[in-house]
Amino acid sequence: MTPDSRKIRLVLELRAGGVSDRRVLGAMERVPRELFVPEPFRDKAYDNVALPIGHHQTVSQPLVVGLMTQALEVGPRMKVLEIGTGSGYQAAVLAAMGANTYSMEIKPNLAREVKIRLKKLGYKVEVRQGDGYYGWIEHAPFDRIIITAAANHVPRPLLDQLKLGGKLILPLGNVRYSQNMTLIEKDSQGKMHTSQHGQVRFVPMVGVAQE
Ligand code: SAH
Repeated sequence: MTPDSRKIRLVLELRAGGVSDRRVLGAMERVPRELFVPEPFRDKAYDNVALPIGHHQTVSQPLVVGLMTQALEVGPRMKVLEIGTGSGYQAAVLAAMGANTYSMEIKPNLAREVKIRLKKLGYKVEVRQGDGYYGWIEHAPFDRIIITAAANHVPRPLLDQLKLGGKLILPLGNVRYSQNMTLIEKDSQGKMHTSQHGQVRFVPMVGVAQE
């Protein structure tokens, strides 16, 4: 199979799995996932599977990235904060959709690698090394927040850094087994509305507040 036909197959799988937003599909078609995974896994980059990225972390399954990004309803020029940069793939998808993207990674070596990768590929993403639990106060408030590591509760500082009318999505539940993809919308009065979007499995969020 040629790289292009693999990409087409993946887009068909995303559509079959419920991703219909053309801006999400377009961004995922453009971002070269093979350049976000280690060399030995490049031929699997367009398979609908999570892949190891070193340091015991994984880049999420494309369908999960697609569904999460779609549920978040990211518009161009929105200010979006991601917690858990990892390989940088999700951040690149957000940037490819025209979002002003900020991303935090707790592991210093991953943060270092991903800064270089995103810069080299020309994605305008601000990456900061640190515990994303506390958010990024200097750039708050955000239109959208996406947490790409499993949490057993919603980090309060992140809710506080969400704009009125903003949305936050995270894998919420038992961090050792599975989580519910949970979308929280903060209405114009600051009241929170929660909805569930299916079972997922993410690596656990780590840091002081999780211990
Ligand atoms: N979004 C990533 C995959 C996320 S894997 C991608 O597209 O490749 C989860 C990532 O969250 C890991 O890199 C892990 O180190 C990071 N992480 C875990 N806890 C964190 C925290 N408290 N703050 C910031 N990053 C965290």
